[in-house]
Amino acid sequence: MLNYRSTIVAVAIMLVATSYGFYTFNISVWWGLIPFGFYFLMVGLGSYKIGMKFYIDSICDVPNSENKVAITFDDGPNIEFTPRVLNLLDEHNAKATFFCIGTTIEKHPEMLKEIDKRGHTVGNHSYSHDIKFDMSSVKDVKQDLQKTEALIETQIGKKTLLFRPPFGVTNPKIAKAVKQLKLQSIGWNIRTLDTTKDSEDKIFDRTTNIKAGDIVLLHDTSDKSVKVLARLLKLLGEKGLHSVTIDELTNIKGYA
Ligand SMILES: [Zn+2]
Repeated sequence: MLNYRSTIVAVAIMLVATSYGFYTFNISVWWGLIPFGFYFLMVGLGSYKIGMKFYIDSICDVPNSENKVAITFDDGPNIEFTPRVLNLLDEHNAKATFFCIGTTIEKHPEMLKEIDKRGHTVGNHSYSHDIKFDMSSVKDVKQDLQKTEALIETQIGKKTLLFRPPFGVTNPKIAKAVKQLKLQSIGWNIRTLDTTKDSEDKIFDRTTNIKAGDIVLLHDTSDKSVKVLARLLKLLGEKGLHSVTIDELTNIKGYA
C-alpha cells in the first residue's frame, strides 16, 4: 500500500502526465484536479487508518504467531474498571498491554504499579490525549510523550518503548517525534469500537474471527468493555489462543 512518500511521488508523476496532456493533447483542465483529489484522499485516509502505515510503520498484527494474540487496552489506568480487567486476565492466565494516558497516571499512579506488578506491559498513549496533540509541533509532541514517559518511569522504574497514537491518528510531525524518541508505534487489526454506543453483542461480534497474531483494541474504561473482555477470553480458550503482551507477540523490546 502507498505511504506518504510514495503518494508524493505518485502525485508528482500524475502532475507531469496531466501537464503533458494539456500541452500535447489539449485535454480538459479538469484532469488537473485528479492529482490534487488523490493527494487529499490519501492524506486523509493515511492520517486516520493506522493499518495503512502511511506516516509511521505501526505494528498492527504479527502473522505466524502460533497460538498467540495480543489484547491491548487504551486510555487507562481507570480506578473502577482496570482492577476488574486485571482480575479477569489473571483468571485466564492472560497477559495484555496497557497504553496509558499521562493525566490518568497522575490521578491513579497506584493502578499503573498494579498493572506492572501483575506482569502486563505499559505503553505511552500521550499525556493529555487531546485533539491538539495531532496539531502540535514536533517539539510539543516530543515534550508530551517525554512527560508521559517520565511519569511511567517514576511509577514502575522502566522506560517504555511502545507508543500508541491517541485516536489512532498519525501525521508527519508525530512520525518525526516518534522516530526521534526511538519509540515503536503499535496499532491493531481488530478495532472493537467499544467506546461507541454499539451494543455489547455487536462489539463482541467484531472479535469472533480472531486468529493467531491479531492485535485487539479495547479500553479499560467501561463496564461494557469488561464484559466483552470476559467473553473474548472465553472465546480465546475455545480457539486454543492465548493473549500475551505486545513485546512477547512482536518479539521487540517493551522497555529500554
Ligand atoms: Zn485513546
